[in-house]
Amino acid sequence: MTPKIACLLAVVALLLVGTLSPAAELVSRKGECGTIVGYKDTPLLPATGGKYHVHDPDRPEPKYVDPGPAPELPGPVPSDAIVLFDGQDLSAWEPTKWKVADGYVEAGGGSLVTRQPLGSFQLHIEWMAPATPATHMMSRGNSGVLLMGLYEIQIFDSHPVHDEQIYPDGQAASIYGQTPPLVNACRKPGQWQSFDIVFTAPEFDGDKLVSPGVATVCHNGVLVHNHQQITGPMTHRQILPYRGHAAKLPLALQGHGSPVRFRNIWVRPLGE
Ligand code: MG
Repeated sequence: MTPKIACLLAVVALLLVGTLSPAAELVSRKGECGTIVGYKDTPLLPATGGKYHVHDPDRPEPKYVDPGPAPELPGPVPSDAIVLFDGQDLSAWEPTKWKVADGYVEAGGGSLVTRQPLGSFQLHIEWMAPATPATHMMSRGNSGVLLMGLYEIQIFDSHPVHDEQIYPDGQAASIYGQTPPLVNACRKPGQWQSFDIVFTAPEFDGDKLVSPGVATVCHNGVLVHNHQQITGPMTHRQILPYRGHAAKLPLALQGHGSPVRFRNIWVRPLGE
């Protein structure tokens, strides 16, 4: 065999290994609100007693609750709140490609990150999943509220009008990859929705976790997490342990390629 042929065979062998190595495989099952798509080749979640995988389609599907009609106007703002976005002014955020238009800001490239670092807080945010169909189910109104830039309350279009649904720990208002919401209180795409999040930041002694992050969340006024422990930073198809960080970090809104809109974002820092 000439060196040239040997080299060619080696390249073909490498390509074959790449093709044959196990890839992330989506599986599905029939649920109440459509076919649920997810993964079974991911780690088992200790918080479920090892019963369910990360992004497991077999995880119980949160019951759908109609939260009532969407408010036309942004909700009221408490007098002591820090307004992060009033529909026009993005000066509370780092420079961004996200575009302001007609009382909202639309997700563009990258994430939108606050200039101000925040610890524990009460946060109000209004968002809208696009009414136009996504090219792929997984990018259907996909964004998220990244508490401290690390811990995600998922934004996704999980309304039962669709016949395909994402895995419960990735649907709207889930603590992404960890805990599904108590119920599915999603409005239709193209309608304004709200999250009200009470977040207690995790505490560390160096890299050692002293107390985990905790979230209580209302989605469109409906309770979806009641003092729920956050088990670590957000990741996809994995489990990440906590790693020590500052007591305050910027809040981020996730850019995930979907033109999700936001308005009326305010925060009330706690424990100061
Ligand atoms: Mg997300």
